[in-house]
Amino acid sequence: MRSRFCCPRCGEALTPWVRELELAEAVNLQESNTWVLPSGWFVRRDSELLAGSAFTYGPANHPWVFAPMTNWWLRVHSDPLRTVGCCGLACFGPERPNLVCACGEEVGLGYCDCIGPYWYALHESVVHEQEVDAAPPQAIAERLTRLRERVARPIVRAGYAPGGRQPLHHDPSSWREALRLGEVRVDCGGGIEDPALVIASQQLPAGAQLVVPLPWCQLVRLVVLEEQPWAETESPLTWQHGNGPAVCVSRHSRQVLLTTWGPGDASWAVTIEARAWAEAWARFAG
Ligand SMILES: [Zn+2]
Ligand SMILES: [Zn+2]
Repeated sequence: MRSRFCCPRCGEALTPWVRELELAEAVNLQESNTWVLPSGWFVRRDSELLAGSAFTYGPANHPWVFAPMTNWWLRVHSDPLRTVGCCGLACFGPERPNLVCACGEEVGLGYCDCIGPYWYALHESVVHEQEVDAAPPQAIAERLTRLRERVARPIVRAGYAPGGRQPLHHDPSSWREALRLGEVRVDCGGGIEDPALVIASQQLPAGAQLVVPLPWCQLVRLVVLEEQPWAETESPLTWQHGNGPAVCVSRHSRQVLLTTWGPGDASWAVTIEARAWAEAWARFAG
């Protein structure tokens, strides 16, 4: 089955069609600048996948948990006392919902502040629609096995650092300060405990590759569940593994901006044509 959730007042969809997540390896409960779930999926807050986390003890009247969504689906409340954190969308509990439908109905809670994990949750009053899933994801177990084999390969940790000033995700006019890549090839390695993406491109010096650490759950989302490999500029896809750099990926028009922020020369940025980035992931997931 697949589900979507609609406003109890006006009936408008608050989410796209989404699937209930069963793959524990795609969940992130750590404080790590990372979404709690992949986009396109949901879990119930009392699911075993979230056992022992803040959701277990959190507001019981917001039972549906998601990744952050764009304001195409859910708008941030206009009252700053419900939303302003130190660096992102703050959450002050179920008495002060901070997500609303376009019609103004208060429908959810969202948290995208500080080190996360980042999430949205919808109120029990929202309408839960279900229909038969015409094209359920195939071969998840096989894909996971293949990814485990692939990530086990060693990689050279010292990736190329293209440097440059850090463009701002929400200001696409600043993106031209980043190195621009055409066709890219995506691979991974380093082991499940310490995985990294390896990105090759003709626009990099001969033999040079970008090395982007990421948590295993994020790699599983991108490859096994084929999560969209970006989010919109208002709320970029983010992840961080341990003390590695914080990574943000967003799309504007036909470009994707990938930034990494960390100590030393671990801070750099590149832009990639969105089509080339999507195709590289499709080949990788193959
Ligand atoms: Zn509404
Ligand atoms: Zn903060």
